[in-house]
Amino acid sequence: MCYQVVERYSVCRCLYYKHSIDPCSAYGQRGHIVQEKTVLVGYACSSHSSSRPEPGYYAGVLPDSGYASGAHPPHYQ
Ligand SMILES: [Zn+2]
Ligand SMILES: [Zn+2]
Repeated sequence: MCYQVVERYSVCRCLYYKHSIDPCSAYGQRGHIVQEKTVLVGYACSSHSSSRPEPGYYAGVLPDSGYASGAHPPHYQ
């Protein structure tokens, strides 16, 4: 039985590293399968380890000071 070690992040289960197949003497024969061995690494990947990104937090947030509201103050005489 051949083995292929696949390392995954234990937190998010994303692929960390896929090792090359460790072939046995029956490698390549008909019906022969490669057993996948999952090895968990003890942290999350870069896109899942940091605190959740907040898309839109910096986008489109402008102070509504009336500057662009178009409502001009009444002109007193
Ligand atoms: Zn094998
Ligand atoms: Zn991940």
